Amino acid sequence: MTADVIAVSTQPVERFQPVQERGQRAVFCGLTSIIWLHRKIQDAFFLVVGSRTCAHLIQSAAGVMIFAEPRFGTAVLGDRDLAGMADCHDELDRVVAQVLERRPELKSIFLVGSCPSEVIKLDLDNAAGRLSREYDGQVRFVAYSGSGIETTFTQGEDNCLASLAADLPSDTREESRLLVVGTVPDIVEDQFRRLFSQMGIEGVDFFPGSQSTDLPSIGKNTRLLLAQPFLGETLRALESHGATLLPAPFPLGAEGSNAWFRSAADAFGVTAQVQDSVLTPPRLRAEAALGKYRDELAGKSFTMLPDSQLEIPLARFLARECGMTPREVGTPFFDARVMEAEVPLLPSEVDWVEGQDLDPALDRVRAARPDLTVCGLGIANPLEAEGLRTKWSIELLFTPIQGFEQAGDLAELFARPLRREQALEVGSWS
Ligand code: SF4
Repeated sequence: MTADVIAVSTQPVERFQPVQERGQRAVFCGLTSIIWLHRKIQDAFFLVVGSRTCAHLIQSAAGVMIFAEPRFGTAVLGDRDLAGMADCHDELDRVVAQVLERRPELKSIFLVGSCPSEVIKLDLDNAAGRLSREYDGQVRFVAYSGSGIETTFTQGEDNCLASLAADLPSDTREESRLLVVGTVPDIVEDQFRRLFSQMGIEGVDFFPGSQSTDLPSIGKNTRLLLAQPFLGETLRALESHGATLLPAPFPLGAEGSNAWFRSAADAFGVTAQVQDSVLTPPRLRAEAALGKYRDELAGKSFTMLPDSQLEIPLARFLARECGMTPREVGTPFFDARVMEAEVPLLPSEVDWVEGQDLDPALDRVRAARPDLTVCGLGIANPLEAEGLRTKWSIELLFTPIQGFEQAGDLAELFARPLRREQALEVGSWS
């Protein structure tokens, strides 16, 4: 649609080298991913073993009332636990028993580590093994870390899925199977299944699925298609079972979704004719939906501060499909294998940064004054106060954005702050 408008880098992955920065960081921790994980995995409970700060974080991020009985909670480590005066495992057992008494329908409990549990070296892997044996046949326990020490918020999902991946059953079937990896909302999963099925690719598994007990089997004939770009550890855990990655851009926008589906279709021997007949109608719908926003977005500049690890595919989408001009694109981590198919699509002459050093990064935003800055919540308000328009990157995880049918909604997320600015300028904010 717009691929010819933007100069495209011809650099192979190994020569795409973002500038690396190390310094002060401002990102949410991995506990945040519990919000979308618990919505997806509907028979699981996420028990954070942490402090009152951890409890406040997920309670406020989730925005739920306590009487809604959410499927997450915090076992708060008290002073006696932190001082090593109490046996944390006894306390954990007591809290687990309470949770299961109230929620006997649960099939899995994730024990989620935090900064405090890591600092006191509480061995949650061991606890998960012990509790799994104790509740054998009733509840599975899985431990992973959501700690904010040197991590960013989407790594919570990566750690969660990598832990689950270690225990997936083996698949010894001869025929190839497709496994879509990364949390997508059910509505997106249904759309994806429909299009795969129309192309004759049946029996597609999604990881994670809506039931924690319904785990996909995996083996040398499993083909992996990543739906989220922040799953490097999960990918490596799945590859250790013999599965292979299908290189594809991420399913963001019409172009990304089209290439993503075609990567799977090519691997499963779907003819070009069938691919065209199935994928062209939704691609045209997506392009039409994007067209409505292109007038608002084209020519506007943006900076992305490193936060969600979605930055590279989003920058590709905004530049190529919405006509926006990237100034600087930061990402917390650059995983060359995961981004292999994205890199050749990236616009040239952009400052790419891996890691974060907050103050110099903010100085560059102030100097460039982009029309839009995509950043974390904590940075957005100060920038807004300085007259810069922002988009919270966390919204991109709480909103269905993948696939053809969501392409227009994705563009809308970026158009909204610009529209709000115009409305404020003319004094008619609606
Ligand atoms: S895990 Fe660490 S960063 Fe996250 S809320 Fe708890 S203490 Fe804070």
